[in-house]
Amino acid sequence: MEIGNSRFANTGGKLEIITMDCIFCKIINKEVPSEVVYEDDKIIAFKDINPKAPVHFLIVPKKHIVSVNHLEMQDKAIMADLVFVAQKISREKNLKGYKLVINVGSDGGQAIDHLHLHLLSGKPTELP
Ligand code: 5GP
Ligand code: ZN
Repeated sequence: MEIGNSRFANTGGKLEIITMDCIFCKIINKEVPSEVVYEDDKIIAFKDINPKAPVHFLIVPKKHIVSVNHLEMQDKAIMADLVFVAQKISREKNLKGYKLVINVGSDGGQAIDHLHLHLLSGKPTELP
C-alpha cells in the first residue's frame, strides 16, 4: 500500500512503514546500486560510498528502523543480527581487528535516518 511518500508492508498483520525517500531502503530494494558484501533475508551489508578507513562497510537491517532510539523490544534480535553479520564479514575478509560504530540522531552524527552499523578496519582517517 502507498500513501504519499510512504509504502506500507503488511508483516504478520502489522503494518510496517517503508519511507520511499530513504536511500538505504532504495539500496535494499536495489533501486540504487551499491557494492553488496553480505545479504540475507533480514540484513544487507555494503561498502560505504565515502569510506573513512581502508575497509568501511555499512551493515543495515532490511526493516526501516530510524535509529537506536526508535528500537522496540521486538527488534532486539535485529541488533544481535547486525553484530553477528559484522563478525561473519570480518572472518570472511580476514580482518584482524575492527571498530563498530553506531551514530544516533543528528547530534550523534547520524546522517541517514535508517539504523546502520559501521564496520571499519585499517587505520580510520576519522570516525564516521
Ligand atoms: P551516518 O553518518 O548516518 O552514521 O552514516 C551514513 C553513511 O552512509 C556515511 O558514512 C555515508 O558515506 C554513507 N552513505 C550515504 N549515502 C550513501 C549511498 O548512497 N551509498 C553508500 N554505499 N553509502 C552511503
Ligand atoms: Zn529506510
